[in-house]
Amino acid sequence: MADNKGVMIFIEATDGKLAPISKELLGAGRKLANDLKEDLSALVAGSGVAHIATEAITYGADKVYVVDDPLLKDYRTDAYVAVVEKVAKQVNPRILLMGQSTIGRDLAPRAAFRLSTAVTLDCIALEIDAATKQLLQTKPVYGGNARAIYTMETLPQMATVRAKAMSALAPDSARKGEVVTIAAGLDPAAIKTMVLQKVVQEVKGIKLEDASIIVAGGRGVGGPDGFKQLEELAKLLKGAVGASRPPCDNGWVPDAIQIGLTGKIVSPDLYIAVALSGASQHLAGCSGSKNIVAINRDPEANIFKEARFGVVGDWKKIIPAFHTKVKELLGK
Ligand SMILES: Cc1cc2nc3c(=O)[nH]c(=O)nc-3n(C[C@H](O)[C@H](O)[C@H](O)COP(=O)(O)OP(=O)(O)OC[C@H]3O[C@@H](n4cnc5c(N)ncnc54)[C@H](O)[C@@H]3O)c2cc1C
Repeated sequence: MADNKGVMIFIEATDGKLAPISKELLGAGRKLANDLKEDLSALVAGSGVAHIATEAITYGADKVYVVDDPLLKDYRTDAYVAVVEKVAKQVNPRILLMGQSTIGRDLAPRAAFRLSTAVTLDCIALEIDAATKQLLQTKPVYGGNARAIYTMETLPQMATVRAKAMSALAPDSARKGEVVTIAAGLDPAAIKTMVLQKVVQEVKGIKLEDASIIVAGGRGVGGPDGFKQLEELAKLLKGAVGASRPPCDNGWVPDAIQIGLTGKIVSPDLYIAVALSGASQHLAGCSGSKNIVAINRDPEANIFKEARFGVVGDWKKIIPAFHTKVKELLGK
């Protein structure tokens, strides 16, 4: 136990490049490692992924462990959990961080079990307790209505981190780091899962999770035509459209853009909430936004309690006027 040292990030790749969440984790991990005066390492696992190690170094890693094996081509829980267990037992990090992504949510609890430790999912802030070197892990609870700080005595201390909750460092190609190759040592017979087919969901424009500006509509938008206006505004702002649950349930917009407890969790720089009341189940998905601007005709709507700026009125009048002003400011 006492030998555990350093911070390790589990890296994810998208289209052969470091995923945005991994860049953010490297930024957060760098700060934690500096506070601990220990190293920041990264684990890159996959097939044909060795080049990602260099990218991870430019984003802050001191050392990158690469496990490159054809058996790791597609994400499969049983193969990846075995790799994380092997590398973590070999490297003995004090802290092991993953993204609160589809992969991280699946992998982190299983890896924690294999490593006889615990994991806090969906953290939005991480800090080192200077006295104990324990990782203080902040996460939203009660549907986003409160925040709790967790810690654990077992090592490695594990957490998954919400997308956009942390900031990536600017890449520095002059940064030097070490790359260590580790054999996966996987027994193909022990991998019980098989990927039969991959269905890529088509996303027009910017992905909701990656957008720094989101225009989200609620029941008060009234139908698909209303959402077309929100789409035009989102396009102008180089953002994405989201929705509360009723517009998805009513078939006005695809389910994939639902934000909330049973939808996506987003933390953009700007969240424009249009004609949605701000139910706790919706806030669970957007309360991590840096700035919420609410437009609602009901001055008592709960969303105003969360919003930094609020406009009381009919969105049908406010959005077109806002659109015209943004266009003017952008010189379009
Ligand atoms: C288990 C569970 C899980 C859930 N998960 C989710 C989830 O993931 N995401 C989610 O969003 N909800 C979820 N819900 C539903 C949630 O409880 C709310 O019912 C929902 O968020 C309400 O959506 P809304 O704000 O769009 O609609 P409403 O609450 O009906 O609010 C509509 C708002 O629009 C305003 N409005 C109307 N017309 C105009 C206008 N012309 N101009 C300006 N303002 C106007 C009204 O004043 C009102 O505030 C869940 C519920 C349960 C029980």
